[in-house]
Amino acid sequence: MRARSWRVRHWSVRHAALLARVYDAFEAMLVAAAPLLARVGYIRLEHPFAFVERQVKGALFDCRMCGDCVLSSTGMSCPMNCPKGLRNGPCGGVRPDGACEVDPQMPCVWVKAYEGSRRMREPKRIEAPLPPVDQRLKGSSAWLRAARRRAGGEAA
Ligand code: SF4
Repeated sequence: MRARSWRVRHWSVRHAALLARVYDAFEAMLVAAAPLLARVGYIRLEHPFAFVERQVKGALFDCRMCGDCVLSSTGMSCPMNCPKGLRNGPCGGVRPDGACEVDPQMPCVWVKAYEGSRRMREPKRIEAPLPPVDQRLKGSSAWLRAARRRAGGEAA
């Protein structure tokens, strides 16, 4: 089961550029639909959006629904899968073969992040320090928040 989820994760990293383009198109659609979304109500939409996001990103990235998504900066490798929860690059314990220090069966998520970032339109984005994860957002929809922010609405 774990090996299967890593295979999918690694597929996502290999196809980081494609997934970034798909996400950009999806976000543009949400931004265009902002007046409608606002009429329905972002609070009312939160639960269904979070549900769908959990299914889709869970399957593709082993998403942990931190609510503070940084995949576009990490080559489509979710840093929340790091056993040490590191959001700004690997610890000093990466093994010579690129495996995780804690779980030698698992490739380091940051080695994968670097590989994925080379395929992204802005490969240097991975070099910018990320703020600590905002724990208040855990479980919420990062999609809805990002689209709302881009549409100029308030986003918690
Ligand atoms: S960074 Fe957060 S929202 Fe993005 S895939 Fe990882 S756990 Fe999910």
